[in-house]
Amino acid sequence: MTTPSDDLRTTPLTAPLGAVVPSSVPTHWYNLAADLPEPCPPALHPGTREPLGPEDLAPLFPMALIAQEVSTERWIEIPQAVREVYALWRPAPLVRALRLERALGTPARIYYKYEGVSPAGSHKPNTAVAQAYYNAVEGVTKLTTETGAGQWGASLALASALFGLECEVWQVRASYDSKPYRRMQMETYGATCHPSPSDLTAAGRAFLAQDPDTTGSLGMAISEAVEVAVGDPHTHYALGSVLNHVLLHQTVIGQEALAQLDALGETADVLFGCAGGGSNLGGLSFPFIGRNLREGTTTRVVACEPAACPSLTQGEYRYDFGDVAGLTPLLKMHTLGKDFVPPPIHAGGLRYHGMAPMVSHAKELGLLEAIAVEQDAAFAAGIEFARTEGIIPAPESTHAVAGALAHARAATTDEVIVIGLSGNGVLDLPAYHEFL
Ligand SMILES: *Cc1c(COP(=O)(O)O)cnc(C)c1O
Repeated sequence: MTTPSDDLRTTPLTAPLGAVVPSSVPTHWYNLAADLPEPCPPALHPGTREPLGPEDLAPLFPMALIAQEVSTERWIEIPQAVREVYALWRPAPLVRALRLERALGTPARIYYKYEGVSPAGSHKPNTAVAQAYYNAVEGVTKLTTETGAGQWGASLALASALFGLECEVWQVRASYDSKPYRRMQMETYGATCHPSPSDLTAAGRAFLAQDPDTTGSLGMAISEAVEVAVGDPHTHYALGSVLNHVLLHQTVIGQEALAQLDALGETADVLFGCAGGGSNLGGLSFPFIGRNLREGTTTRVVACEPAACPSLTQGEYRYDFGDVAGLTPLLKMHTLGKDFVPPPIHAGGLRYHGMAPMVSHAKELGLLEAIAVEQDAAFAAGIEFARTEGIIPAPESTHAVAGALAHARAATTDEVIVIGLSGNGVLDLPAYHEFL
């Protein structure tokens, strides 16, 4: 047993030691499109290569979300019913990582914005709840989606349960077999979960005919979920990242963090967020970037992506498809190419060939920076975080932690660092076990 050192009892605090800084649930989502110096290039129809119209998306999404996808209004009101669900876990805590600071011996002040307090354990319900609400209001009775490791499927299953929708999820076969807990989570919320490819869709049967032993891919699962949604007027499809409306819903993260830091009299010098499709990073950083653009503040934003799937740091910025088959709209984004097959990494939520168009555009405009983090460095940082702060970060989130730790170790001034801690790793303990 160690006893608390004198250092622990006497270190002067320059900001309160608040675990949860009180603030209220935001009333509006923040739309970065309103403040961008140049508009984000539009999504294009895969056949005509003309900008998409609302009618192109209507078989898949409710009109309210299609409108949000192209909106340039700065503030979009959050419906009361969505705010009531958010209030189950929001405002999410902003926590001063004092023990981590001491362990690092850094003069910087480190805070983390913790999204792992949601019922699903990550930031993903912030958009799942909004998407389920708008679909329910427009009379849709069922949602379909794909999921890899299962975080998105579990979040949509949760949101569907809360708004009385059926939910059908196609989970990539390899994860369906190897990671049963998220499937159990989905089933507990009342969703149906199929391994993909399945024999329930024409697309799935074709994939199985080609290779009966295939372990599946996100691209195949997307094809199955979309096919079922398009074939039924009461069924829609939901996507958990990349699209503008998804990033919009996630801005509750950054707005709360801004208010929480303001209440402490702190100004963020640099934010670190992990980036797979870009939704938690965009959600945390866009309100800060908006303030930089409107008020001349200088908060830096650093996207932390896996070195094994480095779309922002290594990808080309061009139009590309969202899926392997080339059926989705063309999105202008940093991409490794739709046929890029990322190696199996533990941070399954970061294995996507492209990056959200809004995050990609912000990078091109110099509004945010990006770094690539090796998996071992990410896990080492996750373990350091767990042993000082207690929370076991999701494998995805450890990339942001690693970026922040490297920065804090090199810091020579009392700057303010904010980590976007997108989720907890409680259902990912086998990955930690393997690393150890
Ligand atoms: C899905 C997921 C991610 C990656 O998705 P983004 O859209 O890039 O945020 C990151 N962290 C966690 C915990 C996730 O579940």
